[in-house]
Amino acid sequence: MERKVFDLGDTVQMKKPHPCGTNEWEIIRMGMDIRIKCVHCKHSVLIPRAEFEKKMKKVLKTAAPKEESDT
Ligand SMILES: [Zn+2]
Repeated sequence: MERKVFDLGDTVQMKKPHPCGTNEWEIIRMGMDIRIKCVHCKHSVLIPRAEFEKKMKKVLKTAAPKEESDT
């Protein structure tokens, strides 16, 4: 099974877009619950982590790229 990888500051796409028409959310808090903010209207919502993983479609932008060790 594919595991979704996301981190603080990432921009993600959800399965359902926000009513404002945008489907880009920034992760602004990580923990037991995930807080995401709509990049367009700045509305933020708190979602339990398990639910977030179900509703998140994909990561659009990674805030902190993983270190690549291809020397
Ligand atoms: Zn919005």
